[in-house]
Parts: sequence; structure tokens; C-alpha cells
Amino acid sequence: MTNLDPSEDVRISRRCVVIGAGVLGASIAARLAAAGMSVTLLDQDEPGRGTSRWSFAWVNSNDKGPKPYHDLNHAGLRAWAELAPGLDGAAWYRPVGHVELAADDAELADRVQRLTQWGYTARLIDAVEAARLEPSLRLPGPQAAAAWFPDEAYLLTEPLIERLVARAAAYGATVMTGGQGRVTGLASGRVRTAAGDVLAADDIVCCAGRWTPRLAAMANPESPVPLIPWDTPGATAPGLVVRVGPVRAEGPVRLIHTPQIALRRHPGGLLQLEAPDAAVDLHTPETELRHWAGELLHRARRTVRGLDQATVVGCQVCVRPMPADGQSIVGRLPGARWLYVAVTHSGVTLAAHLSRLIAAELATSAAAAELAPYRPDRFVGTAVPLTDPAVGR
Ligand SMILES: Cc1cc2nc3c(=O)[nH]c(=O)nc-3n(C[C@H](O)[C@H](O)[C@H](O)COP(=O)(O)OP(=O)(O)OC[C@H]3O[C@@H](n4cnc5c(N)ncnc54)[C@H](O)[C@@H]3O)c2cc1C
Repeated sequence: MTNLDPSEDVRISRRCVVIGAGVLGASIAARLAAAGMSVTLLDQDEPGRGTSRWSFAWVNSNDKGPKPYHDLNHAGLRAWAELAPGLDGAAWYRPVGHVELAADDAELADRVQRLTQWGYTARLIDAVEAARLEPSLRLPGPQAAAAWFPDEAYLLTEPLIERLVARAAAYGATVMTGGQGRVTGLASGRVRTAAGDVLAADDIVCCAGRWTPRLAAMANPESPVPLIPWDTPGATAPGLVVRVGPVRAEGPVRLIHTPQIALRRHPGGLLQLEAPDAAVDLHTPETELRHWAGELLHRARRTVRGLDQATVVGCQVCVRPMPADGQSIVGRLPGARWLYVAVTHSGVTLAAHLSRLIAAELATSAAAAELAPYRPDRFVGTAVPLTDPAVGR
């Protein structure tokens, strides 16, 4: 055996624990493992069973502001398109484009103009073109104002997260779930799980979605990771997701928004539906949820062809991890810098790009300028208004 040559390029494997195997944590774990870190990915459940599982998963930067946040999401579109060919994209990446029927013609025209100026592909279309792009559409009339966003997509999060976790494991990551993966205590360099194990870590990354404030509070009880309330009656972070089917062959292919409903395909010959006015929370009685599910199916039938045989096959209240100011929270926690947190709405759109930025920060310790507006420090000493920042898009 030869002595170690001091000039040799030595790659030291940092130990990194990632908490949460939703779309964000799984993406980060895969990037960190591929970068040569020794990664342990923990989840209290099976991977992908949190918010990511029922997400509408529309990859877009259609109505996000201000401009830097638009750019971050726009980069998300490109990042998924880049990742798909090397990660079995046929199983989860659906770059079908998006047709939107206007709720307010002037608002849609303004938005398309702004997006175009920002370098985002968008254009106004008339009813004839809308019908050509999506033959299943039942248009409200020949004057219907619409827009076409060809670069937008949706993702199938379950097969995606499966592949991200498999990629992390292929690069040597350890994946622990259930009691072994449930984090019950945090300290600098240490993570305790419900199974009683204590894991040592050089970096701890918390991607626990809506549960992030609880974990951050384990690190620093004064932790400023404010999300809008999600578990109280009347909270606006929860949303209703309905799956209906079967959809006949003439059913829709594109992602579609009308003022009454959003819809897209889901595997198994289904459609996934959402409605902007379906005000539900985690306390809404089952009868009311069933009522809404029937109403959404009714609206979907009025919107597209192919649903004559369809019934409701799934209905779920799903919770947005929505930061109090609507923008991502990414970076080291004030008062406990050893904990790196990443929590965001639009996490499906953002995960491929955010995970790249976060993995680079952790691997090099160089701060990414693009992430500067999203640091948790911005909440220190501020009274955070827990209003409802544009839930839904
Ligand atoms: C109705 C609805 C529609 C949406 N539509 C879109 C959309 O169209 N486009 C878009 O981009 N985004 C959309 N979103 C938002 C997007 O789904 C989320 O931002 C994203 O799924 C968050 O992913 P995550 O990995 O951060 O969280 P999650 O998927 O919730 O994952 C967090 C994980 O942390 C684990 N965890 C929690 N506590 C612990 C603990 N103590 N120990 C170990 N593990 C723990 C959980 O089990 C979970 O698996 C939507 C959300 C909702 C609710």
C-alpha cells in the first residue's frame, strides 16, 4: 500500500441526513448522493405519501410573482425537462401543455403579455384553436377567450418519487421509513428517530413539508418557519382533490383550467380534478366532501367529453405547505444554523431546480444568489401576516 499523496484530489464523503421523502426531499437526497455525499433519507411514512402524493403536480410559472420567484419556477420547468430523459421520464413526465379558458379576458391578456415579456412561452388563442389543441373541450361559445402554454406539464409524483429514491439508493443512500425514519429529536450533528437510533450528521436537511415548523422547533423553539395554518377549521391551506373515471378515448390530453375547474389525466384511465371554490379543510364532514366530489364530476362533464361512464373513484383533502408570504423558505435556520430547511408551495414545479441549488450549496458552502430572497432569516423580528397568499396556483 502506498502513502497518501498530498496532491491527490481527495473527495471527503460528508454525512447528510435528509428528513422527508416527498418530492423535495427525494430530489435533494438523489442530488446529494450523486454528488458523493453519504446520505440517509428518513421518512415517518413510505416515501411520497405526504402532500406530494395527491398534488395536482402542474409544472408551471403561470402566475407567480415577483419576477425572481417567476424565474425560479420557470427554471423548474426546464429542470424537469432536463432530468426526464435520464430518469425514465416516460413513467412520470407529461409535457402536454396547458389550455386555459379565461375567467376574465382582460386579466388573461395582461398575464400572457407579462409572461411573454418575461421570456415564458404563452399566447392568446381563439375558440377554433382551443378546440384544435384539445378536441375534447366543450367550449362555452365561439367567442371564448383562451390561452395556450405549450411548455407546461404535469408530473406523476408516485412513480417519480420511486425513481428519485431508487437513484439516491443506487448512489449509496440509506433509506429509513416508519418508526425508524420518524424524527423525534434534533441537535447539532445529531438526529434521533422514534426507533431510538441517534444518527450523526455533518448536514441535516429538513424537507418535512407542512410538518417543517414542528421539526424546526425541535432545533430552535423560536424558529421562524411560518406556514399559513393548515389544521384548524377554516384553514385555507387544505385543498380538495377528486379522481374520476373511467375516461373514454375521446377524453382530454392537455392540462385544462376553466374558471370552474382544473383537470388533467391520472393513470388508470382517470382524471384528477380541483375547483377553486371548493372550500374544505381537515374537519370538513364526509357528506360535504362527497357533495363537492359530485359537483366537480358534474363540472368536468360540462367541460370535456369522455366522462359519460365516469364516477368518483377518489376524494382527498390534501394540505399545501404554504409559507406565510407565499414564497419558498430555503436555507439555514436562524439560531440553529446547523439545520437547513426547505419548504415551499409549488414544490412539484420547483423540486428539480431547487434541489440542484440546495445540493450545490451544501456541497460547496457557496451561497446561491438565486436563493437569497428565500432565506428563513427574512422572518426574524417581523410580525408575519398569516394571510392567504394566492393559494391554488
Ligand atoms: C391540492 C394541492 C394542489 C397542488 N398543486 C400543485 C401544482 O399544481 N403544482 C405544484 O408545483 N405544486 C402543487 N402543490 C404543492 C405541492 O404539492 C407541494 O409543494 C409539494 O408536494 C411539497 O412537497 P414536500 O416534499 O415539501 O412535502 P411532502 O410531500 O408533504 O413530504 C414531506 C414528507 O416529510 C415527512 N415527514 C414529516 N414529518 C416527519 C418526521 N418527523 N420524520 C420523518 N419524516 C417526516 C412526511 O411523511 C412526508 O413524506 C399542490 C398542493 C396541494 C395540496
